[in-house]
Amino acid sequence: MALKVVCLVGGVGGAKLAHGLAQILEPGQLTVIVNTGDDFWHYGLRVCTDLDTVMYTLSGLANPATGWGIEGDTDGVLQGLRRYGEDTWFGIHDRDIATHLLRTQGLREGRRLTEVTRDLTTRLGIAHTILPMTDAPVATMVDTVEYGELEFQEYFVKYRWEPTVKVLRLQGIDAAALSAEAAAAIAGADVILFGPSNPWLSIMPILSVPGLHDALVARPVPRVAVTPIIQGAAVKGPASKLMAELGYKQAALSIVQYYQRVINGFVYDLRDGALSSETVHMVGMDTLMQSDGDRAVLARRVLDWVISWDPSPAGT
Ligand code: GDP
Repeated sequence: MALKVVCLVGGVGGAKLAHGLAQILEPGQLTVIVNTGDDFWHYGLRVCTDLDTVMYTLSGLANPATGWGIEGDTDGVLQGLRRYGEDTWFGIHDRDIATHLLRTQGLREGRRLTEVTRDLTTRLGIAHTILPMTDAPVATMVDTVEYGELEFQEYFVKYRWEPTVKVLRLQGIDAAALSAEAAAAIAGADVILFGPSNPWLSIMPILSVPGLHDALVARPVPRVAVTPIIQGAAVKGPASKLMAELGYKQAALSIVQYYQRVINGFVYDLRDGALSSETVHMVGMDTLMQSDGDRAVLARRVLDWVISWDPSPAGT
């Protein structure tokens, strides 16, 4: 029986592991559940940055220089907006806008984000399943020392994650529900992976969807996080800065502490030496994914490791 894998991710870091899994698994084996707390309305368009990054990465369209956006995309619309005197702090490029147009049209026709995403991914030729964490609009709000509460994209893009974070709030989360598709994927998963995504900004919103956390921990299977922190630092983005601001030590083991009983396994980076934990299975690997090949190698090693576990792993 083919192994069924569910991978929870945010944008660039998580998308790399999802891409590794997509390279080694057959269609039907992989479901990627994606954070939608970063989604927002921009010039009347529904922009889902993490879903877009995962879609572009798995379809081979992604810009390798940034990890997000479409390779070779142009900025005609941005130039046009600037002629009107607009402050174009958010880089929305021409071909990327096609995604937002079709998504917005689909949502305005009353289709769920899950359905619209399935349509877009199919049309991009992606054989694997990409699901938003929920169909309801949820917005990550970032309360900062310098500017008060900011919408996520203001914090992340406009202010380049420089403000000091006090607390995160998920607007709309109480009204969000676990979709039938995500529930079925989790219920059928043989392995659940947490991509090397930002635990606070990318994974916490997913775990906060009512019912999702309980559905995950109900699965007596390997639930394994891959570290986004190597030698105390993030490969990119604010994960390490944020962990200090939220009171955690800037170290890979803080990720284990943060995920607590949700995970029963953790892949740390070999550059951290040998780490151990009394509560979860741990292994060191080279987790730095610099090429498409690295992604597939890491995905294969993680899966080989978890299927070698004792059938009743710690914490399940
Ligand atoms: P975002 O929404 O684009 O910020 O993407 P994610 O939340 O999915 O990923 C951000 C995290 O990915 C950061 O904390 C990075 O440290 C981590 N990351 C990015 N590339 C790599 C990599 O190659 N290896 C590892 N281990 N982590 C990575």
